[in-house]
Amino acid sequence: MILTARLLFPISAPPIQDGSLLIRDGIIRAVGPISTLQRDFPGEPSTSLGDAILLPGLVNAHTHLELTGLHGRLPLGRSFTEWAGALLTLRPTLDGTFFASSSMEGAATLLRSGVTCVADITSSGASLHPLKTLGLRGIVFQEVLGLDPEQAADRLTAAEEALRSLALEASGSLLSVGLSPHAPYSLSERLLDRCADLLRRSNIPATIHLAESPEEVAYIGLGLGPIASDLLPLVGRGAPSHRVLGESPTAFLARLGLLSKRLTAVHAVHLGGSDLELLRQHGVALALCPRSNSHLRVGTAPLPRYLAYRLRVGLGTDSLASNETLSLWDEMRFALTLYDGAVTPQQLVTMGTLGGASALGMATEIGSLDPGKRADVIALAIDHLDDTDPYGSLVRQASEKSVVLSMVDGKVLYRA
Ligand SMILES: [Zn+2]
Repeated sequence: MILTARLLFPISAPPIQDGSLLIRDGIIRAVGPISTLQRDFPGEPSTSLGDAILLPGLVNAHTHLELTGLHGRLPLGRSFTEWAGALLTLRPTLDGTFFASSSMEGAATLLRSGVTCVADITSSGASLHPLKTLGLRGIVFQEVLGLDPEQAADRLTAAEEALRSLALEASGSLLSVGLSPHAPYSLSERLLDRCADLLRRSNIPATIHLAESPEEVAYIGLGLGPIASDLLPLVGRGAPSHRVLGESPTAFLARLGLLSKRLTAVHAVHLGGSDLELLRQHGVALALCPRSNSHLRVGTAPLPRYLAYRLRVGLGTDSLASNETLSLWDEMRFALTLYDGAVTPQQLVTMGTLGGASALGMATEIGSLDPGKRADVIALAIDHLDDTDPYGSLVRQASEKSVVLSMVDGKVLYRA
């Protein structure tokens, strides 16, 4: 089948006017101007999307779909620890029904907004079912938490069991499973150490919230600050359960052997030069969530620096516990204003597609419209796309409402 449209963004190459794609068996076989593909593949059935534009499906590199129902229920705009404390208090009141309906609503929202691949963290396991049912691609990460070192072995055993059941459920889908030690401050050093050991044994992908807030930096390095004074008592702990050695969160993870090219570090707002060097050495990728960072008042990640460092960088929305929508278009638009000229629209669209794919270790399969890649493709209807500034007008105008078609692995999953 040939798909044709007024403009096609391969991402790996400049946009193509009157562009087209040849898709066979779920794989992109050729990309180019309509006239070329019609000449080279005569008799191939062709579907015109008219004035629409074609792009690779978006990659949401960080979210927690099971928390979608928390929209508007937590204090935003105050402080990180106030928000985290409220989430810790609310969490035990959430049950399986909540996680299941939240996950379904979140997964359906992603699909409608043009996301075809997602990195989702789950504590309940509830997000795998809707993602599989809808046919989305991605990685479902089992969350691990726990500050009591005495419980580390049990926590890891439970996580391994959860991983086995997720992997079983994922069979026959486009989903794989991974491990998410939640953050350097929310697991005991012993549990982080056991997670590192599991990751070495299993070689599955991993993701962790890292260097999100100044509070985290103070707590890991000095054992002090609002995490020690306000969050530890909420989980019944009197003192840090890691060795306080003046390390940065990144150096702490490096010491435990958690840094690897299979790891995506989320947020990465507060990294120093030696942290960046560690991340580069170990090939760690990043997933930035600028709107969540803004709502939690944790600061702004120095994205231009990360891009100059040539780190693999994707974009995530985080969950609706710390954001107002799951739209990556909203995330790109916010970032465009936030970085005020220091990051281009083209860089942001690349982060939302190929960058995310690369950060998740999936760039050979997806993220751009190139021959040989899986056919994860979206079409958007945009009324006044400025041909002289295609990326800029795309980022300024695209929204969930613009998406008219979402295809994953060559199958149309959504049509407006
Ligand atoms: Zn998160």
